[in-house]
Amino acid sequence: MTMSDWAKVERPIPVPTELTKPFWEGTKQGLILFQHCQTCGNWQHPPAPTCTNCVGIDLKFEPVEGKGTIYSYTIGHHGGDRRFAPAIPYASIVVELDGAKGVLMAGNLLGAPSTEAKVGRRVQIVFEPLTDEITLPQFKLA
Ligand SMILES: [Zn+2]
Repeated sequence: MTMSDWAKVERPIPVPTELTKPFWEGTKQGLILFQHCQTCGNWQHPPAPTCTNCVGIDLKFEPVEGKGTIYSYTIGHHGGDRRFAPAIPYASIVVELDGAKGVLMAGNLLGAPSTEAKVGRRVQIVFEPLTDEITLPQFKLA
């Protein structure tokens, strides 16, 4: 059981857009902010100009609790992107966060062997600062 060595990975840095800027401002402060439709109550991520349920435009970024359940996962055994080679094998997981039913967020499972990624396992967000501007939300076992 080996742990992924993310310290040696040169991560691609996300570039915020007008739509995603509030999300990245949130992660910098240790918050997960998802769009919440004020018309129908739908939560959504990634951010979109209109509600994916009712096409409403009254969307607000609101915090959700940084805990959730693994919905799906994949184990990376090959370095398609050579920057990730030091972390092989690593778990990329898709998580449904509590309080935002239906919204799925992807990240890596940190601090545990990739074999610990299982559908239904509880995880919590950890915030990994990449630069002064970008803090990446990742996951660890809860
Ligand atoms: Zn809506």
